[in-house]
Amino acid sequence: MKFISYNNTSFKKTTYYKRLPENEREVFDILSSVFHFKVNNYVLEHLIDWETVPNDPIYKLIFPRKEMLQPTDYKTLLLLHQSGLDEKTLFQFVQKVKKKMYPEVKHAETSIPKVNGVRIRGMYSNFETIVSLFPDPMAKTCHSYCSYCFRWIMFNNKEAQQNSSYTDPNEPVEYLRAHPEITDVLFTGADPLVLKAKTLQKYIDPVLDIESVKVIRISSKSLAWWPFRFTTDKDADELLKLFKYIQSRGKHLNFCAHFTHVRELENDVVKEAIQRIRDTGTVIRCQGPIVEGINDTPKDWSALWNTQIALGMVPYYMFIEADHNSESCFRIPLAKALQIFQEAQKKTTGLARTVRGPVFMNDLHRTLLDGIVTVNDQRYFALKSLQAPPNMVGEGTIKLIPYSETTKDAGDLIALFSKEQEARSTTVDIL
Ligand code: SF4
Repeated sequence: MKFISYNNTSFKKTTYYKRLPENEREVFDILSSVFHFKVNNYVLEHLIDWETVPNDPIYKLIFPRKEMLQPTDYKTLLLLHQSGLDEKTLFQFVQKVKKKMYPEVKHAETSIPKVNGVRIRGMYSNFETIVSLFPDPMAKTCHSYCSYCFRWIMFNNKEAQQNSSYTDPNEPVEYLRAHPEITDVLFTGADPLVLKAKTLQKYIDPVLDIESVKVIRISSKSLAWWPFRFTTDKDADELLKLFKYIQSRGKHLNFCAHFTHVRELENDVVKEAIQRIRDTGTVIRCQGPIVEGINDTPKDWSALWNTQIALGMVPYYMFIEADHNSESCFRIPLAKALQIFQEAQKKTTGLARTVRGPVFMNDLHRTLLDGIVTVNDQRYFALKSLQAPPNMVGEGTIKLIPYSETTKDAGDLIALFSKEQEARSTTVDIL
């Protein structure tokens, strides 16, 4: 299959646009003037079930939804569109709306490594033993864009990309050599696997020379959005050779595959792609967020995990969708997320017992929503900090926060876990 991608303008020329119910077309026109839209021919032809649009989960996974904008902004944009599109006014208003929604990355400073006081571009030190790297070409795009993506701000935004990425492949070397405690390097993006194998190798090679780095992680949704990347793309074989080469250099290669719905695993081409990756010795660990209207039942998750295991992959994390700005409409109540996780595990082969979740992914602590406990007749959510960033205390700590059936918000997790200056793995605080 030849890769064809569509943006908000070219998609309107397809027959699929005409198939959208009228109100969905209106939402698409308005929302895609604010958020970047990208979809490819495989997703359109083989993943979305057009008979069930707008309720189809893959449709919801790609197409923006009305709730992503504040009602007043939506209304104003609608009026601007209906009034014959004065492009200049529209552009200015869209910029204003976007600015309001720029995700606030709290405490970002603590995650940015420095050498001699100078910031290393494109490197984020998530936890003591892991860093994420953002080489410039990897920060640019994906095979399709997910409606819930918190990285939307990076797409088509040269300034944001340049500020948070690096171009010289040797940029992270000095820091990594000076920090032998860093064993895992994560290449993330956007999606690193949109790049040619040669370009990927250029950025991965300098890291392979560092003895203390033992694990190379590549985070990608390409198996779901474009499985031909591993089968019939021109350099598919070269990419798989690169996977073998990384391991021949003594590193463990972990493919962090992003899956949201079992449909993404059902076509023959994705099964073939998974097998070809596994044949290189690479371990595929799967993760994805629990998202309102897309995968918010126990059946969705047990089907997803059972299929992943049947195909030889490892279910790894169920994430709680980020809650800043536009993503908050994708989040479900914490109590419901926990219940879905627990019910789904009961319906899944015992091999899925190692999957962790629901886990908050966007704060400095990687925090597990571990269960509900009752103390003195009061119910609480038990939260556990699985990992904390370097120089921050709290890792291993358990905190209790008041239970609520409807809340989607656990409050400020950084403040919650930072309060305890002397972290002990057995600490339990009741707020
Ligand atoms: S593939 Fe990943 S980075 Fe790309 S849009 Fe989806 S969530 Fe965002």
